[in-house]
Amino acid sequence: MTQCNDDKCQTHGTLSLRGSTFSGIVISAKEKKSAVVAIDYTRKVRKYERLEKRRSKIHCHVPSCITVKEGDTVEVSECRKLSKTKAHVITKVISNASNTG
Ligand SMILES: [Zn+2]
Repeated sequence: MTQCNDDKCQTHGTLSLRGSTFSGIVISAKEKKSAVVAIDYTRKVRKYERLEKRRSKIHCHVPSCITVKEGDTVEVSECRKLSKTKAHVITKVISNASNTG
């Protein structure tokens, strides 16, 4: 991994991770250093004893040393509040959208 000057980078900066880690799919990477990641999760509905599929969108910080594109599967970690909408950071790219076809 290459060195970067991003202070909000968990590897090269001073950012410390805490809270939960999950994987999701990048649905928007238009903003610089930001990405919108969709997290799919299931929730149990007691009344019907079935699982309900849900999706939540979170805004994540993208460190300078990581490049993401729409459709990429990424690992996201919770950290301190970075801006008004961001409190998560992308820690690594699990699979690339272009590689999977
Ligand atoms: Zn970095």
